[in-house]
Amino acid sequence: MADGNENWTCGKCGAALEKKKTVFSYLGRSFTHDVDVCPVCGAVRIPRELAEGRMAEVEEQLEDK
Ligand SMILES: [Zn+2]
Repeated sequence: MADGNENWTCGKCGAALEKKKTVFSYLGRSFTHDVDVCPVCGAVRIPRELAEGRMAEVEEQLEDK
C-alpha cells in the first residue's frame, strides 16, 4: 500500500485525481477535508488519515457524553 502517494489515478477511468476541498457529513457532524477527486467521473478516494483521523474523532466526541 502506498498511501500518501500524490499521484493517484481513478480506478474507473484512469484520470489523474485532483485534490479538492470537500465537505463531509458524518454521524451528524460536518467537516471539510482535502481529498483526491476524479475530475472526470467524480469518484472520491477517502484517505486513511481521514477515516482513522477525523471520523474516529467524531465518533469519540459522540461517545464522550
Ligand atoms: Zn474517474
